[in-house]
Amino acid sequence: IVQWTPFFQTYKKQRYPWVQLAGHQGNFKAGPEQGTVLKKLCPKEEDCFRVLMKDVLRPYVPQYKGQVTSEDGELYLQLQDLLSDFNQPCVMDCKVGVRTYLEEELSKAKEKPKLRKDMYEKMIQIDPDAPSEEEHKAKGVTKPRYMVWRETISSTATLGFRIEGIKKSDGTSTKDFKTTKSRQQIKQAFREFVNGFQHAMPRYIHRLQAIRATLECSDFFQTHEVIGSSLLFVHDHYHASVWLIDFAKTVGLPENQKIDHRSTWTVGNHEDGYLIGINNLIDIFTELDAE
Ligand code: ATP
Ligand code: MG
Ligand code: MG
Repeated sequence: IVQWTPFFQTYKKQRYPWVQLAGHQGNFKAGPEQGTVLKKLCPKEEDCFRVLMKDVLRPYVPQYKGQVTSEDGELYLQLQDLLSDFNQPCVMDCKVGVRTYLEEELSKAKEKPKLRKDMYEKMIQIDPDAPSEEEHKAKGVTKPRYMVWRETISSTATLGFRIEGIKKSDGTSTKDFKTTKSRQQIKQAFREFVNGFQHAMPRYIHRLQAIRATLECSDFFQTHEVIGSSLLFVHDHYHASVWLIDFAKTVGLPENQKIDHRSTWTVGNHEDGYLIGINNLIDIFTELDAE
């Protein structure tokens, strides 16, 4: 159980511990304006936010309010704090897509495919049967091999999304979902997440359907490979909503390259499986709502 608060946030005279479910501690700070947070600047992510503020997806992403320089001279993006309108919210981060690394990261890893003992060790710690006979003998795996395998220990490769973290309204949070893989395991985690907040389920479904419909007609979505981006689910006793966050690894597609976000990924075709994830999320929430 993780229980740390990067900072306290103030909004409408209320003071509350801000929740950060992923990323490095130190990447986020309270914003200078009420209802905003600061995320360490990544130029690629800023490019995305600039485009998104003019795209049909705008209502589904945190509002981007420009760059801010902190006291220590570091550059940050000022973003709408999605938790501001909630009272002791439950929060869940789901990373969407069938892979969480860029094509270029994979090809870079393939340049000098050294055998890595550290990656072999990590592999057998999770699944002693994962390495091949040769890999066992060598006590090493290559980085590209490890990268592809890593996406298969969670639901990323199969369902097109994985849970990164959940914080419940009692303040307890966990990031212990690295090997949460089966539909049943995911369902159980979602069940616990919305337990006691039954109104949230139909709202999540409705919002996810609106997101899917909007993605289908978004210029941004048509022209980008969306990798490592998350859906942030937030609810309390009154409200429930979902937003797209984290565009640090979302990149424009190479010229003349088109993807449909639902076809199988093969090395080089740039497919991210984003819609596979969205469809599975909608299906799973719909099944849970019918229980
Ligand atoms: P990583 O790449 O490891 O996922 P990151 O440093 O790129 O992390 P984000 O994924 O953007 O950071 O955000 C980390 C966490 O911070 C999210 O899981 C969420 O809990 C919180 N968060 C991010 N942006 C917002 C926002 N605009 N409003 C409220 N919470 C946010
Ligand atoms: Mg993230
Ligand atoms: Mg990120």
